[in-house]
Amino acid sequence: MGGSELIGKEEKAAVSDVLDRGVLFRYGFDAQRKGIYKVAEFEGDFAKYMGIKYCQAVSSGTTALRTALAAMGVGPGDEVITTAFTFVATYEAILETRAVPIPAEIDKSLNMDPADLEKKITSRTAAIIPVHMLGVPARMDEIMQIARKHKIPVLEDSAQATGSSYKGEKTGTIGDMGIYSFDYVKTITTGEGGMVVTDSEELYRRAEYFHDHGHIHNPAIPRGDEDRAFPGMNFRMDEMAGAMGAEQLKKLDYVLRRQRENKAQMKEGIAPLGFEFRDLPDPAGDGGDCLIFFLPSAAKVIEFGKSLGQKGIGTKILPSGMNWHFFDNFPDMMERRTLHREKCPFTCPYQAKEFMYKKGDLPKSKELLERAIALGISVNMDDAAIKKVIDAVKSAAKEVL
Ligand SMILES: *Cc1c(COP(=O)(O)O)cnc(C)c1O
Repeated sequence: MGGSELIGKEEKAAVSDVLDRGVLFRYGFDAQRKGIYKVAEFEGDFAKYMGIKYCQAVSSGTTALRTALAAMGVGPGDEVITTAFTFVATYEAILETRAVPIPAEIDKSLNMDPADLEKKITSRTAAIIPVHMLGVPARMDEIMQIARKHKIPVLEDSAQATGSSYKGEKTGTIGDMGIYSFDYVKTITTGEGGMVVTDSEELYRRAEYFHDHGHIHNPAIPRGDEDRAFPGMNFRMDEMAGAMGAEQLKKLDYVLRRQRENKAQMKEGIAPLGFEFRDLPDPAGDGGDCLIFFLPSAAKVIEFGKSLGQKGIGTKILPSGMNWHFFDNFPDMMERRTLHREKCPFTCPYQAKEFMYKKGDLPKSKELLERAIALGISVNMDDAAIKKVIDAVKSAAKEVL
């Protein structure tokens, strides 16, 4: 699972210190906080770790996406291309900006298929959101080349890939902006939390202002007297989460190392069965979140998953969990079942029928996802736990295939 497995005395002490000082707000209260700013410290450490200039901590990965889209100036009627396989949050953030999500197919990496991305670009495309699913980087060389050719900004959704890399660069730092999630089940956790990153000072400032009601955070002016840059939201991270984040970040390399070791061991154990594995665009940069292989048919996958379940082995997202991760299962979004639908005139491009993709429009993604099995990897798995998974896979293969 990741950092949540390692929550210990370091996090406890750091959060406890925040409570002792009594300042939970990231800004102001200078005397009481004795010069200690945990969210700002986490941002600084994160920037250094990722090799990026600017980091804006926020309340979640979802609000990180919303904040980044706002910073990039994406708005009503714009089209944003993302992938058919992602958590609903990517689509929700696009819809929340009143833009139109456009799903691109995935390839055997289970991330954005660059060839389909290029087919989906129109004169209305305002941003591209590749998603690094389950710790594996997307094909960023091809994606960036297409994006640059068409002059479209790229926002990397690295919510599931904190610390993963692609050809030596950390995922999230390759495009114009990137985001991360620190919810409880991600690579590292702050309880709930997220980060927006960029090398552009302009994009960073806009994200900074947007995430805090338009505040420009001029230290020379009391908060209540500050001017607003523009209306924003409250997507702030609090000091307890910041303190957690700074401690969890110190454990990130250990999380990645253990996951990679455990994954390699598991892969070696089931390799003799001859399965086709998920494509890795940069094997060295894989965060080791899970091990994915393909079976001949969707029916076999369901049987296989059941057989594993009977042996006490669960799967991660594939095959169970697809309701929340595959475009075909987002009818609420395709039908624009928003709470304010009646108030949006039908001329609003956000609702125009011509923009709507529907279930069945991503046949390649469906075919790949239906044939995939994902085995979760955890940090604290020991040899016996890994062997149990390998044995279960071997006997499921005997039973089902
Ligand atoms: C988890 C996740 C998010 C949202 O992050 P939260 O912190 O849970 O809001 C966005 N995109 C992807 C791909 C995710 O997995």
